Amino acid sequence: MPLCEPVPGVLKEKVGEEQIRLSAYTDIGADGLFGIRWLIVTDECVQVYSPPPGWVPPVLGNGLNTTIEPPDVQCDIDLPLSCISDSTTESLVGCGSLMVTRDGKPLELLRYSNARAGIFAEVARYLSAVAKQEPPPEPVEQKPTHCPVCGFRLPGDTQVCPRCSRKGRVVWRLLGFAKPYKWQIVLSGFLMLTGTALELAPPYLTKILVDSVLVPRRNLHLLVVILTVLALTRLAGVGLSVWRGRLSAWLGARLVFEVRAKLFQHLQWLSLSFYDKRHTGAIMSRITQDTGALYDFLVDGVSSLIVNVLLLIGITAVLFWMNWKLAALILLPTPVVVLVTMWFWKTVRRVFHQFWHRWSRLSATLNSTLSGIRVVKAFAKEGDEIERFQRRNRDLMTSGMQAEMMWATFFPLLNLLTNIGFFLVWAIGGYGVVRGEVQLGTLVAFLGYLGMFYGPLQILTRVSQWLTRTFTAAERVFEILDTEPDVKDAEDAVPLPEVRGEVEFCNVTFGYDKHKPVLKNINLKIEAGEMVGLVGHSGAGKSTTINLLLRFYDPDEGQILIDGVDVRKIRMEDLRRHVGVVLQEPFLFPGTIRENIAYAKPDATREEIIAAAKAANAHDFILRFPDGYDTQVGERGQRLSGGERQRISIARAILHNPRILILDEATSQVDTETERQIQEAIARLVQNRTTVAIAHRLSTLRNAHRLVVLEQGQMVEVGTHDELMAKEGVYHRLVTLQSEINKIRAV
Ligand code: ADP
Repeated sequence: MPLCEPVPGVLKEKVGEEQIRLSAYTDIGADGLFGIRWLIVTDECVQVYSPPPGWVPPVLGNGLNTTIEPPDVQCDIDLPLSCISDSTTESLVGCGSLMVTRDGKPLELLRYSNARAGIFAEVARYLSAVAKQEPPPEPVEQKPTHCPVCGFRLPGDTQVCPRCSRKGRVVWRLLGFAKPYKWQIVLSGFLMLTGTALELAPPYLTKILVDSVLVPRRNLHLLVVILTVLALTRLAGVGLSVWRGRLSAWLGARLVFEVRAKLFQHLQWLSLSFYDKRHTGAIMSRITQDTGALYDFLVDGVSSLIVNVLLLIGITAVLFWMNWKLAALILLPTPVVVLVTMWFWKTVRRVFHQFWHRWSRLSATLNSTLSGIRVVKAFAKEGDEIERFQRRNRDLMTSGMQAEMMWATFFPLLNLLTNIGFFLVWAIGGYGVVRGEVQLGTLVAFLGYLGMFYGPLQILTRVSQWLTRTFTAAERVFEILDTEPDVKDAEDAVPLPEVRGEVEFCNVTFGYDKHKPVLKNINLKIEAGEMVGLVGHSGAGKSTTINLLLRFYDPDEGQILIDGVDVRKIRMEDLRRHVGVVLQEPFLFPGTIRENIAYAKPDATREEIIAAAKAANAHDFILRFPDGYDTQVGERGQRLSGGERQRISIARAILHNPRILILDEATSQVDTETERQIQEAIARLVQNRTTVAIAHRLSTLRNAHRLVVLEQGQMVEVGTHDELMAKEGVYHRLVTLQSEINKIRAV
């Protein structure tokens, strides 16, 4: 069965389960509001069912809980398949509609939210194939939008549910990074144990001091011994704590260094589709802030957690050993403290999630505004940007305030609870001392230990804050690490040391969203050494075609072959070596001109770089700069003009020397002399290479051996300039339009 989504038992009974060929549910009810309806296709008919009026399934997470059974269902639409001749989907505002053509007229079957668009695109394809009596199409793999376990809407296009990733697993994975440092960790553990033991000594020594020296008022010799031991334990304690602190700083920094490196490496391998759906700022905050949060935790949090837990255990043991009745009494408030803390942890976690989410949104806004500051200024949009930032800033302030205010209320209350313990020791211990049942030294030691007991308890609740932050940060980091690149080397990828440069598109269909194809059934064979120009209106799919050839994305259907080998089977490294690109907006990295030219071949010699620059007509202008090839280009090459940037990027491609060249020709207007120089450079560049050019200028179009005209993702015309002009079709119209625009410009 192509698509089989859950339908209620009553519906299965009504239709007969074995009759169902396809089933799907929509999240928009018959009244157009959030609700549920089911679509069933059998061998004879297509039917739409609704639950009884007023019945809406409960919402689980962000999605409908489709497993709850309605009391009954009613059939709204029942159409024989024989009267349907086609089926499509239509995009409306915020939702979509599943349409069929019945007796030549369009009919809407149901509506669905955009979250279900993929499913209904599939249904439309199925219905349309069945109506035309074709074999049902192969189902397109749908990525789940909601977590299959808890129903929570998955963030972005990741498959990792932030709610369901288990804490234990997160800690385990974090520890995985610590594996190479196990001996340092063992040493750190040993230092913690010894340090804790040393910290437990002073109150007990005080007890001996009170009971054996102060109360009997004798034994000065013992006083000296105890004071010496006290001083020594303190000194040793400080020494150990410094050592431990330095060791955990060393360990923490190294661990975070590795997490950060791994994260960046993974980000480099992730496909462009991952970046399409996320803000750069939000991704950046994962590398900076989230790894920073991990650092804080690994350096301070872990050791503080372990030391304090050890202290608590140690103190409890000593207290019970000294006087179990008194110990049991003063520990009375502890369960309350723990319960209140646990409740608090749960509440604060939600607020902190929100806080971090808003923090990354603020960073994203900041990043987009700063990187687009020229556009902001050019359109005098400073006011709007300030307002947008303020909105985010205010959101962040509200969450931050909420979180901090919760802390501020919680701690004094916690202090009050702990003070009850002191009160109990003074009252019951004092009574015992007066009655002679408890030694004075024991009371003093108890008070000392008690001071040390609630401290760690409070710190442990602080650790809960760290833990919350760390888990959230770690989950966000692992979420990226767990996202598989869509485009990756196939297991059976073959090395391809040399290529002739023959390129073939076979039945290629592709959409950035799988249910909205941008390229439809493209078939094109380009001979080695041939230059093909892609022409078409803006949005026709020209850039998408070259994105596929560069394997930034993989086609949904069909294949792209280089020398007869599917690009999916070619090692990415080889593919990148053989396919070079000159982009419309050449991207220069901050650095020198020389480094930018040699980007694809860092080991190029000075002579090679100069030869490439000469061939790209860039050598002369480079020499006019005082620093020549060592001139800093500034961020994104802002210190160079558009024409200069283009020639540097041509030089980069010449040095790269690929067999197959992709040329996204610049549309920007440059003066005639620069244009001539760029054209000359391009003519040298394309010599003896297979070239696929997105051509905007007539001059390039004339140079191309063949032109391919794209319209709405389909290849509508192929031929030479003269052939296509003679045909008087789409190309002819485009050229006429362009010459008219040029005439207007000339005026
Ligand atoms: P052209 O290069 O011919 O102007 P494109 O190939 O860039 O056209 O775009 C074709 C269609 O794909 C357009 O409708 C565009 O909106 C859409 N598109 C382009 N890039 C993306 C993307 N990264 N995500 C989603 N849709 C995209």
